Amino acid sequence: MPASARATEILNRTFGYPAFRGLQSAVIAHIEAGNDALVLMPTGGGKSLCYQVPALVRGGLGVVVSPLIALMQDQVDALLELGIAAAFLNSSQSFDEANATEQRVRAGEIKLLYVAPERVMTERFLSLLESLEARDLLALFAIDEAHCVSQWGHDFRADYLQLAVLAERFPNVPRVALTATADALTRTEMRARLHLGEAREFVSSFDRPNIQYTILERVDEKKQLKKFLTDHRDEAGIVYCLSRKKVDATAAWLNEAGVSALAYHAGMSAEDRRENQSRFLREEGIVMVATIAFGMGIDKPDVRFVVHLDLPKSIESYYQETGRAGRDGDASQAWMLYGLSDVVQQARFIEDSDANEDFKRAARVKLDTLLGLCETSVCRRARLLSYFGESHAAMQCGNCDNCIEPPQQWDATEPSRMALSAIYRTGQRFGAAYIIDVLRGASTENIRTRGHANLPVYGIGKSLSDRTWRNVLRQLITQGWVQVDVQAYGALTLTETSRPVLRGEVPVMLRPERAEEAAPKAAPKARRTTEAPANLNASQTRLLETLKAWRLETARAHRLPAYVILHDRVLVEIAQHRPDSLSALNAVSGIGQAKIDRYGSAILACVRSVDA
Ligand code: ADP
Ligand code: ZN
Repeated sequence: MPASARATEILNRTFGYPAFRGLQSAVIAHIEAGNDALVLMPTGGGKSLCYQVPALVRGGLGVVVSPLIALMQDQVDALLELGIAAAFLNSSQSFDEANATEQRVRAGEIKLLYVAPERVMTERFLSLLESLEARDLLALFAIDEAHCVSQWGHDFRADYLQLAVLAERFPNVPRVALTATADALTRTEMRARLHLGEAREFVSSFDRPNIQYTILERVDEKKQLKKFLTDHRDEAGIVYCLSRKKVDATAAWLNEAGVSALAYHAGMSAEDRRENQSRFLREEGIVMVATIAFGMGIDKPDVRFVVHLDLPKSIESYYQETGRAGRDGDASQAWMLYGLSDVVQQARFIEDSDANEDFKRAARVKLDTLLGLCETSVCRRARLLSYFGESHAAMQCGNCDNCIEPPQQWDATEPSRMALSAIYRTGQRFGAAYIIDVLRGASTENIRTRGHANLPVYGIGKSLSDRTWRNVLRQLITQGWVQVDVQAYGALTLTETSRPVLRGEVPVMLRPERAEEAAPKAAPKARRTTEAPANLNASQTRLLETLKAWRLETARAHRLPAYVILHDRVLVEIAQHRPDSLSALNAVSGIGQAKIDRYGSAILACVRSVDA
C-alpha cells in the first residue's frame, strides 16, 4: 500500500521532493495506519522522512528519541527552515529553555520534538505525553539509532533499554524504530528490548550505489594522498588514521600542502573537538583528519570522500566509516590504502590485547574477512554486500576499482616458492624486510654475519623490485600460506598449507600491485541515486558560483550550515534550468513552500544577475 495522498502532498509542498524513494512510501503508509515498524536502511537511505511525514499527517506531536544530542540543534534548524514547528529537549539546555519548550509542547504548538532518551523516561515528561494523548495530540514515537539498545554493539546506551516503557504506557501510539545497522542479531535485540514483537520489518538493500570503492596498495602514503586530494579539491571529506599521533602529523602536512585540514581525536580537549567538528559541518571543503573517535552522528550530507590511511578493524567498521560519505546521494569516494605493515600490525594488536582466546579468534576472523575484501579481484561492492547477507553473485557494479579496471592476475608461482623457501631456509625467524633483503641479494651486515649470503636462495629474486616482493609476501599472508608470528616480533613462518605451494604443486595467482594512480585510470562513473548530473557549461558554472556565494552569505547570517539552506544538488539544478518565476522554482526538486517564501526572490535575483 502506498502512502496517502496527504503524505505525498506534504512531501511535495513542505519538503519539495517529487516522489518517495525506495521503501519510504510503504513505511509511511504502515505508520499512518497506526502500526509499529522496524526500519533498516543504510545511511543516507532517507530514514527521517519515514517518521517526519507520518507525524505531520497524523497531526499532534511526533516524539523523536535520539542519542545524538550534538546534532539536535542542526536537525531542528533544518526542520524550521522547512517551515515545520520543531524543537528539542536535552541536557544542553538551561532549565528555562527546557521549560519554555515544554510549555509549547503542552500547548500543542510543536510538531516534531527531538528528545534524549534519559529525558523521555522522566515521570515529568511521560505525564506531559499522557496529557497530550488524552487530547489526541500524540502522533507517534520514532526511536532513531535504535541499535543503541544492543548490548553487543559499541553504541550501547543503557537508557535505550528503558524505552520499552513507551509500549506499556502508550499502547495505542505507533512506534517506529530506525537504524542503519544491518546485522541479524541487532535486529532481534531491537525487537525484543523495545517490545516491538509484532512490528513489521522494512529492510532495504544496504548498497550505497553512489559510493565508489577503491583499495590501493600503500607505496608512498603522502604522495598518494596528495594526488587523491588534488582530484578532490574543495570537497569536504574525512581522512581516518589509526593513531592520534598520525592524525596530528597528517593534518599538519596537509595544511602545509595547502589543504584546509583539521584534526579530531580523543586526546584533544572537548572544546577543540567541538570547534573543529563545528567548522567541518559549517564551512565548505574542510578535510577532517581523525581517529574513529570522530564517528556516529556525523550527519553532514555532502561529505564527498572518506579516506582510510590505516585498515579499520573489520568489514562492519569499514562499511560504517565509508558510509559517512555521500548521504546526499551524490557521487562520493571511499578510498583506502593498505600494505604489508597493516597486516602485521593488526595481527599484533589482536595478539597483544588482553582479550580472551575466543575474542581473539573472532578478531582474527574479522581481520581475515577484511583482508579478503582488500585482496579480492572481483567487484568490491559484491564482496561487501555479501558480508551483510545480500547475495549479488554476478554483480559488476561498475563503480569500484576492480570493476572499472579489472586487475590482471599474474602467475606468481615461482616467486612464491622462492619466498617460502627463503623463509624456511633462514629458520622462520625473520620479518618481511629481512626476507626480502635475502631474496634480492642485499649485502647487509646482518646477512653476512648470519651466513645467509651463502644460501641458495640468496639473490634469486633480484629481478623483482622490493615493492613487488612486499606485495607477494602480503598476499601469501592473506592467503594463509605464510603466518606472522607476533610473539617473535613479526617473524614470518610457514603454515601447514604452504608445503604444496613450496613444492610447486599449487599455482599461485596474485593481484598485481596498483598504486601509481591514486584512482583507477578509467574515468570513474559518477553515479547518483537520483538523476545524473550533467556537466555545466561556462555560464551555468558562473551561476552556480553566484548561488553558492549567496548561500554562504545567507548561511552565515542565519548561523546555519550551508546545506540546511539548500543542498548542492538543488543549486546545480537551478543553475541548469534557470527558473524565471517562483512557480518554475517550485518545480526544482528539494525546494518546498517554505524555501520559496524565504529565499525565492533572492534566488531569482541570482539567476537574473548572470547572463545565460
Ligand atoms: P538517513 O537518516 O537514512 O541517513 P536522511 O533521512 O538523512 O537519511 O536522508 C538522506 C538524504 O536524502 C537527505 O538529504 C534527504 O533530504 C534526502 N532524501 C530523503 N528522501 C528523499 C526523497 N524521497 N527524495 C529526495 N531526497 C530525499
Ligand atoms: Zn564493482
